[in-house]
Amino acid sequence: MPDRIPCSAIVFDFDGTLADSMPFLESVGVEMMMKYFGISKEEATSRYRSTTGLPYEQQVKMNFPDDSRNQAAIEEFEHLKIERIFEQELFPDSVDTVRRIRAKGIDVFVSSSTFQPTIEEYFRRRGILRLFKAILGYRPGFEKGADHFNHIHKTFDVPFDRMVFVGDSLKDFERSKGFCKFIALSRMFTSKDFRNLGYEGPVLHTLLGVVRNIIAA
Ligand SMILES: [Mg+2]
Repeated sequence: MPDRIPCSAIVFDFDGTLADSMPFLESVGVEMMMKYFGISKEEATSRYRSTTGLPYEQQVKMNFPDDSRNQAAIEEFEHLKIERIFEQELFPDSVDTVRRIRAKGIDVFVSSSTFQPTIEEYFRRRGILRLFKAILGYRPGFEKGADHFNHIHKTFDVPFDRMVFVGDSLKDFERSKGFCKFIALSRMFTSKDFRNLGYEGPVLHTLLGVVRNIIAA
């Protein structure tokens, strides 16, 4: 049994971590890059994956700096996303995992690059909105990472050394650095991908594994 991570708050990423939405989001994201920037599916997939975990707006702007087609691509992505995001299922162990963490007396938060009202509506439709202490979504100037962690720290009085962020993307790990502890979920990225960035913590293959890696403190 590895040493359990002492914590008072678990912060979950949303897309690809709690919700099995990445195949859908990637397909739309790649399609938009092909349509608006005329690149191949292979190149679009590579560009999408190298920036995944960030808001699509930033994915596009990083890949195609100062391109006049950016706004149209971003708007169509968001339009197609909102049409079908609510159909995307949670992973089978998501609700059980959140309930078990709460049963330990640990608060559960969500920090995401998806807009906040979208995530709230998603959980409301499933009747589980109240499981979360707070849901933090993206708006310009208030992002997953520093902004959200600082907000949780200040508003809910959570010390950074008692905060654990759980995410499925390399960008999630990068954004946790210097703030809080991190637990990696290996879904689209391998253990090796995370290790190559210097990550030394647990790499899990199921969300339920989080429960066995933490202890209330
Ligand atoms: Mg994610």
